[in-house]
Amino acid sequence: MYSKKEKNIPGEKEKRTELSELGEFGLIEHLSKNIVPKHAGTVKGIGDDAAVIDTGNKLLLLSTDLLVEGVHFDLTYMPLKHLGYKAAVVNISDIAAMNGIPKQMTISIAVSNRFSLEAIEELYRGIRMACDKYNVDLVGGDTSSSVSGLFMSVTITGEAARDEIVYRNGAKEGDLLCVTGDLGGAYAGLLVLEREKQVFKVNPNMQPELTGNEYVIGRQLKPEARTDVRNFFKETGVLPTSMIDISDGLASETLHLCHQSNNGCKLYEEKIPIDDETRRLALEFNIIPSVCALNGGEDYELLFTLKQTDYEKIRNIPDFTIIGHITVSGSGQNLITPDRKTVELTAQGWDAFKKRQ
Ligand code: ADP
Ligand code: MG
Repeated sequence: MYSKKEKNIPGEKEKRTELSELGEFGLIEHLSKNIVPKHAGTVKGIGDDAAVIDTGNKLLLLSTDLLVEGVHFDLTYMPLKHLGYKAAVVNISDIAAMNGIPKQMTISIAVSNRFSLEAIEELYRGIRMACDKYNVDLVGGDTSSSVSGLFMSVTITGEAARDEIVYRNGAKEGDLLCVTGDLGGAYAGLLVLEREKQVFKVNPNMQPELTGNEYVIGRQLKPEARTDVRNFFKETGVLPTSMIDISDGLASETLHLCHQSNNGCKLYEEKIPIDDETRRLALEFNIIPSVCALNGGEDYELLFTLKQTDYEKIRNIPDFTIIGHITVSGSGQNLITPDRKTVELTAQGWDAFKKRQ
């Protein structure tokens, strides 16, 4: 016999804590407290873009992601092929964030009877396109029915050499804070797609007005993983001291790097690379363009730190932008605004457990 407690039925007087009190990161921290690895091969457990497992020769990387319809994607404007592509890419991005090479992937899906065979074929067309592009083998998964909507879980493995792996926790005082590509585009794309969805709801005969906004829509619907960045590091002989991929917005990811490395930072708002199309759309939506980059998310660029002495070696790579530097712990994580004000960096990124109105 199980007691009420063991059966997970709360008694009348039992404490009930809302998940919204913790938020996504608070919940993960709470659940992962005091987990001590049993195997010597578990080099890195919870807390980085991927777990790291010592297999004797190279290091094995392992990462997983769950995508839920209505939470992570909206099929009114996300074609299934793009969804499949994006689901694979966001996992590949986690391997890129460890400076690793993606290898194998498993895909699990739960599908409601709203979906036809042809629809799921489309989803897999996208998955296979990404696997071909990034040289990843699809090696398994699981299939189930669902009472409502589509769920997708992707797990990926990768490989990294011992002297090439990069964690979130290696940033040191004085290191340069850098990003690849440009930021905020995926969020601007989402704003455009949401706007067109509202227009369509009011008048289904309206054609979506997407011209002129192709770049940001592409950033939202068909992101790419920066597996190419590893080659820049190899060619220049530079190894970042820490790295993370930008899935939740620059502010949130910078805070992760600083917290894990136990340091502060100065991030210069005007240095954040933003594409002209993103800038124009942000202003159209009455949003400060840098806010799209700081709080938007889903750009899947890489954020990393470098020793200052490596600056000369990377300064000519047009795809890298230095946006700030790491400061001593205790000095806080700060954003320097264009008018030279120092404000505390806060993350208002994606939080799945935020109370919805
Ligand atoms: P990412 O944005 O890179 O996908 P997350 O923020 O989802 O990373 O996760 C941060 C860390 O917490 C990762 O190491 C991940 O494996 C771990 N994690 C997330 N959810 C859980 C969970 N439910 N149980 C255990 N570990 C988790
Ligand atoms: Mg990640």
